[in-house]
Amino acid sequence: MYDPKSLKAEEFISHEEILSTLEYAEENKTNVELIDSILEKAKLRKGLSHREASVLLACEIPGKIQELYALAEQIKKDFYGNRIVMFAPLYLSNYCVNGCVYCPYHLKNKHIARKKLTQEDVVREVTALQDMGHKRLAIEAGEDPVNNPIEYILECINTIYSIKHRNGAIRRVNVNIAATTVENYRKLKEAGIGTYILFQETYHKESYESLHPTGPKHNYAYHTEAMDRAMEGGIDDVGLGVLFGLELYKYEFAGLLMHAEHLEAVHGVGPHTISVPRIKHADDIDPNVFDNGISDDIFAKICACIRVSVPYTGMIISTRESKEVREKVLRLGVSQVSGASRTSVGGYSEPEPEEENSEQFDVSDKRTLDEVVRWLMELGYIPSFCTACYREGRTGDRFMSLCKSGQIQNCCHPNALMTLKEYLIDYASPETRKIGEALIEREMENIPKEKVKQIASENLKKIEAGSRDFRF
Ligand code: SAM
Repeated sequence: MYDPKSLKAEEFISHEEILSTLEYAEENKTNVELIDSILEKAKLRKGLSHREASVLLACEIPGKIQELYALAEQIKKDFYGNRIVMFAPLYLSNYCVNGCVYCPYHLKNKHIARKKLTQEDVVREVTALQDMGHKRLAIEAGEDPVNNPIEYILECINTIYSIKHRNGAIRRVNVNIAATTVENYRKLKEAGIGTYILFQETYHKESYESLHPTGPKHNYAYHTEAMDRAMEGGIDDVGLGVLFGLELYKYEFAGLLMHAEHLEAVHGVGPHTISVPRIKHADDIDPNVFDNGISDDIFAKICACIRVSVPYTGMIISTRESKEVREKVLRLGVSQVSGASRTSVGGYSEPEPEEENSEQFDVSDKRTLDEVVRWLMELGYIPSFCTACYREGRTGDRFMSLCKSGQIQNCCHPNALMTLKEYLIDYASPETRKIGEALIEREMENIPKEKVKQIASENLKKIEAGSRDFRF
């Protein structure tokens, strides 16, 4: 009953289709002729089907994996250049009525500190984030209709956008809250959100139900069909993800791509981003009790396979991963990273006392934003604080057509440089600034259109003189 165009979860993520895909991938994992033809198809940069991509993921031939990695690197360079978009999560509330067995916010956890930001707290948190240099946030909250109703989330978004501290501003708020109604998605859209992010956690229905034994999140179909409702509500940038470690990664990978194919088939636009979180230790959660943990090498292979399969979809990696792992997957396709994240409620403005832990999970990369920015530049990347696309109405298929038109280098590239310049002047340490100024000078030469280069150069001077917020 597999049907990518269906609006029913069990038809667009068909269990039978995934099983048959995995069987096909297993049978063909040494079929060099087929693997070569799939790699050739991927070189056209139009993506791969879940079946084709699953063959690449199953393949263990070292030479072919090297070819896959080289292609992922090349596609990453062609579509995203050397820009890396920066963001930070902001936890609003950890009140939650669900029973997710991997998450310390689950209802039965009686010893985690339950916290919810007041609007005054939001101001303090956002001021602290602005003072680091962040311009883009992903807001996070547990699901609790009494403590965190949609009105609360909307009020927080409003507050966040209204805070202008020194030269700071949050220019894009992405939202990661539980699956909700079309009406609520419409309200989020009207509040000016960027991407609506919702991790599927697992595409395996039976596992999903046992990993979410209680609460509204137990409903697999309601959760899986959330992106369709979000799109119906007018949100055309949506972010997918699975929590790797819960189920077999090959199953999740096929499900993830089928979800992307479904969005493309029904709404004419695929996911804006894909996140690749892995389960981490947290308050009462031990990641070792989950049997499906994946090694760093498999993790890298998954990232490379996603990159070549959905070239137009941004890929996000959080501070769940260490500096070393982040470095590896940045090359293979990741286009957005968080920096200096706190996963506690209120953790940016005040460090939490040990006995009051409200964190969702331990972070591995604990560096400051300045350190992350410098590290990226030393690796040859341009940390970008750009939020221009959605503010210029380039969302959904309009963003995709920008990618496809090859104009990214005349648009995203100068935007990245101008927002980096703002960061360097307003927030960077002297050493980071020095490295950044040299990088901007070098990278200005890589703007193809003379006219764009000239405007960008004038804008850089204006930024130096105190003006802010230029964009193409
Ligand atoms: N409550 C919302 C929901 O149900 O989708 C918001 C998402 S929650 C704040 C953000 C994400 O963190 C979850 O979707 C889950 O994938 C991830 N997460 C939960 N527990 C985790 C853990 N122990 N380690 C790593 N990630 C975790």
